[in-house]
Amino acid sequence: MTQTPPTAPVLACDAAVLDTARAAIARLDSHLIGSEWVAGRAEPIPVLDPATAAQIGEIAAGGADEIDRAVRAGRAAFEAPTWQAMPAAERERLLLRLAELVERHADELAAIETLDNGMPFPAARAMGVGSAISAIRYNAGWPRRLTGESVPVSVPGQWHGYTTHEPLGVAALIVPWNAPLAITANKLSAALAAGCTVVLKPAELAPMTGLRLAELVLEAGFPAGTVNVVTGLGAAAGAALVSHPDVDKISFTGSTATGQTILRQSAHDLKRVSLELGGKSATIVYPDADLARAVPGVAMGIFGNSGQVCAAGSRLFLHDSIHDEFLSRLAGFAAGLKVGPGTQAGVAMGPLISAGQRARVMGYIESGLDEGATLLTGGDTPDSPGFFVNPTVFVDARPDMRIVREEIFGPVLTVQRFGDDSPEVLAARANDSVYGLSAYVWTSNLGNAHALARRLRSGSVKVNGSGMEFALPFGGFRQSGIGRENGRMGVEAFTETKSVMIGW
Ligand code: NAD
Repeated sequence: MTQTPPTAPVLACDAAVLDTARAAIARLDSHLIGSEWVAGRAEPIPVLDPATAAQIGEIAAGGADEIDRAVRAGRAAFEAPTWQAMPAAERERLLLRLAELVERHADELAAIETLDNGMPFPAARAMGVGSAISAIRYNAGWPRRLTGESVPVSVPGQWHGYTTHEPLGVAALIVPWNAPLAITANKLSAALAAGCTVVLKPAELAPMTGLRLAELVLEAGFPAGTVNVVTGLGAAAGAALVSHPDVDKISFTGSTATGQTILRQSAHDLKRVSLELGGKSATIVYPDADLARAVPGVAMGIFGNSGQVCAAGSRLFLHDSIHDEFLSRLAGFAAGLKVGPGTQAGVAMGPLISAGQRARVMGYIESGLDEGATLLTGGDTPDSPGFFVNPTVFVDARPDMRIVREEIFGPVLTVQRFGDDSPEVLAARANDSVYGLSAYVWTSNLGNAHALARRLRSGSVKVNGSGMEFALPFGGFRQSGIGRENGRMGVEAFTETKSVMIGW
């Protein structure tokens, strides 16, 4: 009997690019300390393609020893005249050169992100690599603009009073797996723009673009030791970095639970700490919203990157008068989303990062059903060895349910209704969360937009759209974090302010 050979799937990117990405993943199995790639000494950690569950590489499992060497390299580089005396314009030039290299290798980096993290190639290209380039270019503008103030002094005498922003020293950058390249490039370029040196600890579940970026940092010509990378588990490499006495600053993005641990661990020597943590962001849709834009906006706000987005709009509030129509359009949109490996053309939603994350999300879906919410769509997993979950929408959600209160970090939307509530009442319902990262409003009424923008207790409020603007500060109220990334604040977070008074 003859068998028809399976048709090869149409790829979202060039096959040669995928080969280059695979070769990079196989090559990048070491730590970067100073300008040397240093092999690991412990049992390596396997790297899986979440779309197939197959191993595609391995990384070194670093611990206290590698962290200590990397921090020493960072300190030596920080104190070296090459870095201390480097003109601000030269730091700017190096950062712009790095952005250029990221742009030149954009397809390869996106393909690495797709294989390592699972996100669809077009999203990895636009949001992952595109954001990384924007962030680096934006931060490259700061070395020459990080000015202090000249301050009128009122104490008796003749004084000149002014402030300066001095780099903190060695910065530990600890990043999550959900948007590894964009987050790493943003933190790294802000730290370098401020004049710090860094030790990067990528997420063990998606470490590869961070390592490839480090290669490009060397190629760009940054002095040895300005950027060091130690891969490994959070409890080993991450914890050693947080407790290292010669680290001046921790810039962490990840879960609220780990953020709390880091804050406790860094208390004994009062390290400067920025925390970008979890969220449970509300989306409010008024009846006057442009539904043709709002439906895909809301859908991709929770299904984009399979819901593994800190600022995902996971709690939807719909006005009674549009509730049914909106949901029928949303269900239609979700049904049209192709779920599959991010390397394949037409795929809009890739897998979750790991079997553990899929089990966690499925556990939340079960709890939603147990607590009485109704599934509008999804709630299941496609038949595949990869870690996929179908786009899921729960209606009849109540504010006391776990699916409404807790961050799921998966493609699960909960829907609640509102009537002719005042902005105060509606904002209070949206604010009923321990988190406060982002909030979204869809309306064509400027009064609603301003009233809610003022009352929503979250670090960002976006009306009629979403997206990351690197010139605007980003961060959380309440348990969504401490401090801000992006904008002037994002670079100043890597500095200490000094006040100077000179009498004459
Ligand atoms: P996680 O907290 O498990 O891990 C994040 C990083 O911390 C990883 O590199 C991990 O190895 C490391 N780590 C773990 N334990 C550590 C410890 N004890 N000491 C030092 N480092 C340690 O988070 P995750 O699962 O990788 O990422 C998902 C979470 O990240 C979600 O909660 C999401 O909301 C959040 N997140 C927030 C933002 C934001 O900007 N606010 C952005 C992306 C993701």
